[in-house]
Amino acid sequence: MTSAIELEDVVKEYHAHGELVRAVKGVSLDIEEGEFFSLLGPSGCGKTTTMRMIAGFEAPSKGLVKLHGQDVTNVPPNKRDVNMVFQSYALFPHMSVWDNVAFGLKQRKTPQEEIRRRVGDILEIVDLVGREKRRPREMSGGQQQRVALARALVNRPRALLLDEPLGALDLKLRQAMQIELKRIQREVGITFVYVTHDQNEALTMSDRIAVMNDGLVEQLGGPREIYERPATPFVAGFIGTSNLLTGTARAGELKIGDGRVLVPGQDGEVTVTVRPEKITIGTDAPEAGLSALAGTVSEVVYLGTYNSYAVRLADGAEMTVFQQNAHDATATAERGDSVWLSWQAQHSYVIGS
Ligand code: ATP
Repeated sequence: MTSAIELEDVVKEYHAHGELVRAVKGVSLDIEEGEFFSLLGPSGCGKTTTMRMIAGFEAPSKGLVKLHGQDVTNVPPNKRDVNMVFQSYALFPHMSVWDNVAFGLKQRKTPQEEIRRRVGDILEIVDLVGREKRRPREMSGGQQQRVALARALVNRPRALLLDEPLGALDLKLRQAMQIELKRIQREVGITFVYVTHDQNEALTMSDRIAVMNDGLVEQLGGPREIYERPATPFVAGFIGTSNLLTGTARAGELKIGDGRVLVPGQDGEVTVTVRPEKITIGTDAPEAGLSALAGTVSEVVYLGTYNSYAVRLADGAEMTVFQQNAHDATATAERGDSVWLSWQAQHSYVIGS
């Protein structure tokens, strides 16, 4: 099957004030038809530039952009079968919801009857039936975002590009809209490419995620794969909270102070990541067959459903541990306590293995 969107070794360089800025340093991607695909990374990593090259607002300095198998590298945005939704919504303030959504179809002289049907259908999908006559300013941020989405979708683009579309919303509304967006995408079956710096957002919605750092894709994979098997220390640190341990493994074991980290099958220099929720905190030395590190609790933060512990190891490194709060539980450890951390061998993930 032909991919919806392909980038082949795309580079984007800017010359700004006599300086060369390499915003994108060689990105290759293959986005499938109907996929919810996210570009995720910190500010300045090149995700917006990558998206703008897919849309055609920027021309790559090198490399190719293909849409549905066709080279569009030099095709202007309005001739590409993609639409873009921005954080700022860009709605017409003096027009009603209905007119905002119908605008593009009217411009293209679509027959009245078809406009009525298509606008009606899309307003139903984004759950705005009954609000057709409102103006944007009479609506909440989440509703305005849905109008912007409806306006982009009503043209039936083959791909929709979304650049931090939920960035202006508060956390609760943003989380609700994430679920909504995913539902809408599934319903319309259009390829979505979504730019975000919010890892939870990417994990919640995406079929696949490209994690970008400094103009390059560090890892490409499904949410679970990226969370559980980070390819680089950067990905491990950027997605969720993780503990990184480095050292020389001998016969599947990494010695750290009096403790051990089990890394079955490994020998030589390793970087290991272990997620905070996989670690158990206790006062007794763990049994053989578990990874075990001794330390002192330096911080306990109560977070409702779980506690977050900071534990300082003998070598000064700090580990983060999340422990679920059972309904009758009191904190298992307090600040200043000497504790043992333990976890099963399978939860030590050796980066790059
Ligand atoms: P953010 O989340 O902050 O928008 P981003 O990952 O989307 O970040 P880009 O906007 O793609 O990052 O920018 C990548 C790099 O390219 C940055 O260092 C930025 O300063 C630079 N850059 C982007 N556009 C231009 C331009 N028109 N001229 C010069 N430099 C640019």
